[in-house]
Amino acid sequence: MAIIEYQFQKATWTQIIKCARWALNVLQMRDWQISIKDHDLKEEKLGYADFNINTLHGLIFIDINYCKKENQNPFAVILHEILHLFIAYKTQSDEISDEPAVRALEPILYEKFCKNNKVKQMKVRKQY
Ligand SMILES: [Zn+2]
Repeated sequence: MAIIEYQFQKATWTQIIKCARWALNVLQMRDWQISIKDHDLKEEKLGYADFNINTLHGLIFIDINYCKKENQNPFAVILHEILHLFIAYKTQSDEISDEPAVRALEPILYEKFCKNNKVKQMKVRKQY
């Protein structure tokens, strides 16, 4: 299985929020109330999500500095976290247990995001 990684690219907080709004619109999740926050814990994570599929509330944390350190694309990270909400919502599951599905969808959504928003797509690095 090929794992596609995207290199870090600069992202402002406004761009990250725009990216999230774009994804919620494309995924038909306009009813969701989602807050996006800077990572505030000491543990090192690119991002993570907390959500409630009954109230349609979500909280997404993203650590842009850590994305830079790990050479990960912050747009891909935010799309990844939103996909966790999307799959949980569609499958009516309260748990984040769908990592393979999210990883499979992430490059497709990211490519669409780049095309629709004229964001330069970073070089794709494949690992086998
Ligand atoms: Zn994940």
